[in-house]
Amino acid sequence: MTTALDKLKPGDRFSCPMCHRNVTVYTEGVHRGGLRPHKADRRGRENVGGDCPGRWFSPFRPAFPQYVRLWGLADAIEDVRRVHGKPDWTPEPMEPGDLQKFVLAAWPQADRFEFAPLTGELRGLTFAIGPRSWRFVAPDSYLSEEFSSRGDAADALYDYLHKMSQEADRG
Ligand SMILES: [Zn+2]
Repeated sequence: MTTALDKLKPGDRFSCPMCHRNVTVYTEGVHRGGLRPHKADRRGRENVGGDCPGRWFSPFRPAFPQYVRLWGLADAIEDVRRVHGKPDWTPEPMEPGDLQKFVLAAWPQADRFEFAPLTGELRGLTFAIGPRSWRFVAPDSYLSEEFSSRGDAADALYDYLHKMSQEADRG
């Protein structure tokens, strides 16, 4: 059961998708509704004993983009297929206007969004999370690893889109 975001109380706890602990959430700020930082115990999916990567997960935002951030695209798709009993499900290709919403569901603190390339059928979005962390999102719902500059993220995005269009030509 989830409470509505505006009825959230400081002691409310929610299950972390990475370690399955019940964790309190931020009640204000950009991460409002998101899990506070916590340690992953032995049931954790990764980094057991250390900082759980499930911090910031919010039961109040769309789950799929957050699962892509936490588990990677392939596992996130696998989860939807299993949970919803849709063995062939793949996410619809996102329109450029949906890319930013997708990113903000995963990282509400993301900013400095920029489309790349500026024209063309396939477009992604580069964005920043803090001063030195750049990433991109592709229209197939892929969220990239971290890059140290916008240029590197954009280069990787071009390569990714190039591969996507080659696969589309083949398929
Ligand atoms: Zn956790």
